[in-house]
Amino acid sequence: MKRISLLGATGSIGIQTLEVIREHPEEFELVSMSAGRNIVLCRKIIHEFQPELVSVQEKEDADRLKSEFPSVKIVYGLQGLEAAAVFDKADVLVNAVLGSVGLKPTLEAIRSGKTIAIANKETLVTAGHIVMEEAIRNNVTILPVDSEHSAIFQALQGEKEKNIERIILTASGGSFRDRTREELHGVTKSAALNHPNWSMGAKITIDSATMMNKGLEVIEAHWLFSLPYDAISVLLHQESIIHSMVEFHDTSIIAQLGTPNMKVPIQYALTYPDRLPLLSGKRLNLSEIGSLHFKDMDLNRFRCLKFAYDAGRAGGTMPAVMNAANEAAVAAFLQDRISFLQIEDLIEKAMEHHIIIGTPDLETIQEADRETRNYVNSVI
Ligand code: NDP
Ligand code: MG
Repeated sequence: MKRISLLGATGSIGIQTLEVIREHPEEFELVSMSAGRNIVLCRKIIHEFQPELVSVQEKEDADRLKSEFPSVKIVYGLQGLEAAAVFDKADVLVNAVLGSVGLKPTLEAIRSGKTIAIANKETLVTAGHIVMEEAIRNNVTILPVDSEHSAIFQALQGEKEKNIERIILTASGGSFRDRTREELHGVTKSAALNHPNWSMGAKITIDSATMMNKGLEVIEAHWLFSLPYDAISVLLHQESIIHSMVEFHDTSIIAQLGTPNMKVPIQYALTYPDRLPLLSGKRLNLSEIGSLHFKDMDLNRFRCLKFAYDAGRAGGTMPAVMNAANEAAVAAFLQDRISFLQIEDLIEKAMEHHIIIGTPDLETIQEADRETRNYVNSVI
């Protein structure tokens, strides 16, 4: 029995993680969790899964829940997130919270020796050097939840790092993959939110349309698999059937395939190194699909991917700045305050404006994050 702490239980990954837990009650138990502001769903989850500790974003929500669930420990805010992450009865932390608030709880959970199943991209993007160092120091395993990194992780089982020539992250291309740059002027929020292959949270769906999602994944891959940026490439693959691949020095390529279903990588992170049957979801039928398509990535068309390579190679505080600028810009786009193409412009401006600090500590990263959000909002 694995006891799970789940941050972001009310989100897209969170809900699918709960489905995996529900389908395998002999294997998994939810012992602590966090929600943001969706208290209706949070309440349902508490009823069904009966976790011992629950964290929510706001104090007034915590106060309400306390009177409804007197036997559950209810906490709130950033400290609450950390308390849920390090809850002593949990073996594994599934971090599926959105945004850079996910960083500190991951670090605390690593320090308390928990296995980490990481969905929250911002953790490794903003502070990969600190997170990986702490994981080694505390002998903690970090398991990828994202489908691309899970695919690479699966393809690497039994292989040595020194055998790798490069990894190839696949990208569906997002909602606007068939449009030219000119055709992106004036695109609407609802069109951007309409992803052809995957059903995900709003922020990551916009990130897929701008290709920043792939950019964040490139930086994550750099840290997770200790590879230089020259050994990480991206390939457009519109069907999202090959979730990513590893090419070895002898030119062999190993890929992981499957239908686009996040429950597969979520479940693998929870069962690794074992596998369990997937109790819901379709099997991949390749003859039905018939053919798969691939295209090189155009960095002039998808500028956010270029920004991510630049930020990753620059290192220091730059990835955190790029991420914070992106979070602030996407939030503004979702609030109809800026246009789709202004997201890229704002990220570019914020990166140009920032003076890099090399090997930053956690406080320096958080300061760069705050400053960048203020800068982006002042430009808007
Ligand atoms: P969602 O927006 O669907 O869910 C986010 C979760 O985080 C919700 O539970 C939300 O709470 C909570 N939350 C948001 N802000 C705060 C905050 N300030 N404090 C506390 N809790 C907060 O996101 P996704 O599930 O799509 O993504 C989560 C993470 O996983 C992201 O980093 C994303 O990049 C990554 N990821 C997602 C994939 C996907 O398929 N969706 C694939 C791979 C990675 P509430 O809703 O209650 O307010
Ligand atoms: Mg992904």
